[in-house]
Amino acid sequence: MKELERILFLYNAHAGKGKIKMDLSDIVELFVNADYEVTIHSTKGRGDAKEVATAKGIDYDIIVASGGDGTLSEVINGVMTIERDKRPKIGFIPAGTTNDFAMNFKIPKEKVNAARQIVIGKPYPYDIGSFNGKYFHYVASFGLFAGVSYTTPQAFKNILGRMAYVAEGAKSLAYIQSYNMRVEFDGNVIEDEFINGMITNANSVGGFKSITGKNVTLNDGLFEVMLIKMPNNLIELQSILNCLILQDLQNNYIYKFKASHIKIKADKNVDWTLDGEFGGECIETEIINHKQAIDFLVNENIITELKENEENDFEDNTLLNESNQDVFEKIVKKFERAIRGEK
Ligand SMILES: [Mg+2]
Repeated sequence: MKELERILFLYNAHAGKGKIKMDLSDIVELFVNADYEVTIHSTKGRGDAKEVATAKGIDYDIIVASGGDGTLSEVINGVMTIERDKRPKIGFIPAGTTNDFAMNFKIPKEKVNAARQIVIGKPYPYDIGSFNGKYFHYVASFGLFAGVSYTTPQAFKNILGRMAYVAEGAKSLAYIQSYNMRVEFDGNVIEDEFINGMITNANSVGGFKSITGKNVTLNDGLFEVMLIKMPNNLIELQSILNCLILQDLQNNYIYKFKASHIKIKADKNVDWTLDGEFGGECIETEIINHKQAIDFLVNENIITELKENEENDFEDNTLLNESNQDVFEKIVKKFERAIRGEK
């Protein structure tokens, strides 16, 4: 019998209301019929997927992760501890309620179908970011819109509209959190006061593609960076919100650039969000793009499409769902409190 390629199938049985369980046997059968030797592991809680990927990843050709963005993040953090040429390839079966990342590779929502894409998939070497040593796969952000990473186009427009409305009633900007920052990137320096920042490796964030811009390449070793300046007055705040609503990012309030290595020094602690989850509180931040660090197994047609998208706009057709709505409520509430000067 010839030596079979080995899959480690790590799944979070509780992600997305545990629906993966119904497809489990079909998924395993599909892998076996495609001549893989399969090991399955149901994750035991937070941190387990990372631990297993770190300890066992090297013994496998492929790790298939199933769960939300958090499970994928753990697997990536585990796999990144392995030398590049020994790293297993990664396949992802989205099972969480929010899977922003899955949109990058247009992974089907139907899980057996997603597994099939992995089996027929080709390796796509994808850039991975590190944030003070911790890895992220599509967005690191801080400030006013830091939760936007797992939301959708219409919902984001709604929230901006509501923020604009709330801001109309504001008397002062004094309570909006801003940070004085020195931002060094690839030999350049910016010093300014910011209310929001987003460092992404994604075709769309919050389903909002102009945040990441056109000409996005997911494996060129470069992030798209957007930094929003602190407005001087309420009229400027309105302008910023309007520019975002209209997806017009060519204005005096927003810095946009591409960079591979970014160092940020702030005047106080900054709360960061990594891939939609809390990423830590820090004054100094170093963000590095690890070019083509992990091979994702992706349908060949999608790889072709990604290459075409590098020159064109990315088609994004996500729909609003309830969990996204929750995130929006939180962001608007946070903004309202800031406007009113509450914590
Ligand atoms: Mg890039």
